[in-house]
Amino acid sequence: MDHISIIVPCYNEQEALEDYYRAITDVRDRLSAMDCRLEVIFVDDGSRDQTLAVMKELAAEHSWIKYLAFTRNFGKEAAIYAGLTHADGELVGLMDVDLQDPPSLIPEMVQTLREGRYDCVATRRVDRKGEPVIRSFFARAFYRLMRQISDVEIVDGARDYRLMSRRYVDSLLELKEYNRFSKGLFGWVGYETKWLEYENIERTKGETKWSFFKLLMYSIDGIVAFSTAPVRFAAWLGLLFCILAFTFILIIIGRTMIFGDPVAGWPSLVCIILLLAGIQLFCLGLLGEYLSKTYLEVKKRPIYLCRETNLEKAGGEDR
Ligand code: UDP
Ligand code: MG
Repeated sequence: MDHISIIVPCYNEQEALEDYYRAITDVRDRLSAMDCRLEVIFVDDGSRDQTLAVMKELAAEHSWIKYLAFTRNFGKEAAIYAGLTHADGELVGLMDVDLQDPPSLIPEMVQTLREGRYDCVATRRVDRKGEPVIRSFFARAFYRLMRQISDVEIVDGARDYRLMSRRYVDSLLELKEYNRFSKGLFGWVGYETKWLEYENIERTKGETKWSFFKLLMYSIDGIVAFSTAPVRFAAWLGLLFCILAFTFILIIIGRTMIFGDPVAGWPSLVCIILLLAGIQLFCLGLLGEYLSKTYLEVKKRPIYLCRETNLEKAGGEDR
């Protein structure tokens, strides 16, 4: 009998939990018929509402429901990592609690992994129905940029919703970095991934935890984690400006020798100084972004801290 662990990160999801529980119970029954035992690991990412209380209630009623609560909000990436370190199933799944990831796909995913050709069955949405236009525009631009500046394949519209084999999860856990950008890590570990597609489903209960600003910061994390192209770009830009400056110097010397120096060009000079200062600060900022990430990495702080759990297997961080 296959043992499947499904990791579900939750942050202020008291309304969504009950619906999720009902939906996953149906799937669990279907999986039992397929000779699979499903276990759900809820990760409470420092919620401020009754999320943890609801989880505990569910866990008290059903032994297949596990929970793990953080000491504060560490972010979805930390919740995913915590779940992965604790999941001991032969197959490990990852999904959101808001039912935007249809649980009915799980049996199909299990079937695919059982055939043995793939180590991961992932999902992507083929449209962005119901999403603000600006958000879709920037999301598309981000994926396009990532494809160009990074070696790792990051699929447009890919969700975190997926089912993975044991060895795939073990490989993910070997990546111990502090700044985790899972969308990139999934591609980085390799293996064969099968993509299932579905149309976007809108959230029914609760609301999205991702503001535009939070998403922007997340995308910068992604770029810094998976590409060094921005700093290389800064170096090339510097070189370009050196060549330009050198050419201008030659032109000015030549012109002065031939025509004398009739024009004092201070307004243009001020503009040029401002432009160059701006570019320099921008490039310094780029460097700072990488340096600050390196700083966080070398501190080796734990990715999350666990306040309480009913899981027996101690994970990497809270042994
Ligand atoms: N989430 C989390 N920590 C956070 C933000 C979100 O664990 O700091 C969880 C959230 O509870 C949900 C999932 O991550 O289960 C996806 O969040 P959301 O639905 O808000 O994102 P969206 O679907 O709008 O991209
Ligand atoms: Mg959602």
